[in-house]
Amino acid sequence: MMEPIKQRYSKQRETILKVVQSTLVHPNADWIYQETRKIIPNISLGTVYRNLNQLVDSGRLLKLKDDAVVRYDGNIGHHDHFRCTRCGKWYDVEILDLSAIKAFSEKYNFTIDSLNLELEGTCESCLES
Ligand SMILES: [Zn+2]
Repeated sequence: MMEPIKQRYSKQRETILKVVQSTLVHPNADWIYQETRKIIPNISLGTVYRNLNQLVDSGRLLKLKDDAVVRYDGNIGHHDHFRCTRCGKWYDVEILDLSAIKAFSEKYNFTIDSLNLELEGTCESCLES
C-alpha cells in the first residue's frame, strides 16, 4: 500500500533533521543531501533544500553563514561558535567569563537580551600541524 503523501513528506523532514542532529560538523546542504540519500536513496537535492528551509523557519535548525556557504546546526540550544579559518571547521564553544559583556552593558547602560558569538581563528589541531 502506498503511503499517504503528507506522511511521506514529514518522514523525509524528520530524517533530514536527524541527519543534521547526528553530527557536530555544522554541515552544508550538499553534505546533508549525501547523508540523507543513504537513508532515502531517491530524495532530490531540491527536496533537501526545501525541508532545510522549513526546519530553519520553524526553529528546529539553526542556519549559519560561512562566507558563501550556508551551514546548518542541529543544536538549537544557546551556544557560541568558533570557526577555524585554516581548516574551516566549526566548533561549539562556551564563553566562560562574561564579565566583559557585563562591563559593556554597564558602560553604555544597555540591557542585553541575546548574545551570539562567532569567533574566528586557528584551532588547536591546525596550530600543531
Ligand atoms: Zn553549533
